[in-house]
Amino acid sequence: MLNKEELLDSLKREIEENKGLPLFGEANLVFGEGDADARVMFIGEAPGRNEDLLRRPFVGRAGKLLDEALKEIGWPRESVYITNIVKRRPPDNRDPFPDEIEAYKPYLTRQIEIINPSLIATLGRFSMNYFVPSAKISRDHGQPLRVNSRVIMPLYHPAAALRSTAMMNEFKKDFKKLPAVLRKVLSLKSDDGQKTH
Ligand code: URA
Repeated sequence: MLNKEELLDSLKREIEENKGLPLFGEANLVFGEGDADARVMFIGEAPGRNEDLLRRPFVGRAGKLLDEALKEIGWPRESVYITNIVKRRPPDNRDPFPDEIEAYKPYLTRQIEIINPSLIATLGRFSMNYFVPSAKISRDHGQPLRVNSRVIMPLYHPAAALRSTAMMNEFKKDFKKLPAVLRKVLSLKSDDGQKTH
């Protein structure tokens, strides 16, 4: 049987080879990175310029804020898994189009199935709406939601937090809830209890 890393590698190759995907040939693939066995998965929207250049998620200004927030709660970046719904950069940092989201969605679904995290933190409304189409970020951020067998914690997008002090305060406040939410999820599961995040 293939292990999680091998399954992720093979999924990555599949995306790379799918010439029918929107943005194919226009931008690099930013598949995602982190611990394949992570308890927590962070899902953003789509790569930006820096992410496209380095082929890594959240490495620009928004990524620095994510790193800082992770540090504040004592979770090393390498211990979580970070990815986006749309895995190539839309030109000029525009929002992803609905057809782009639809085309990349099945790959995100499989990535989640492979990693099988206990908690999913969504960054911004696009990834939140992937799980709960009717959710509103201004109303639902910071409240864990149970979706089928998964627990989703909707967070503001760090790029939005960088645009206003009010959003920054909300982003940080919500982020600080993550360890307690994770502890609760893990305590509700009959789990091996070895990893904490
Ligand atoms: N914004 C995102 O949504 N994802 C990234 O990887 C970087 C910025």
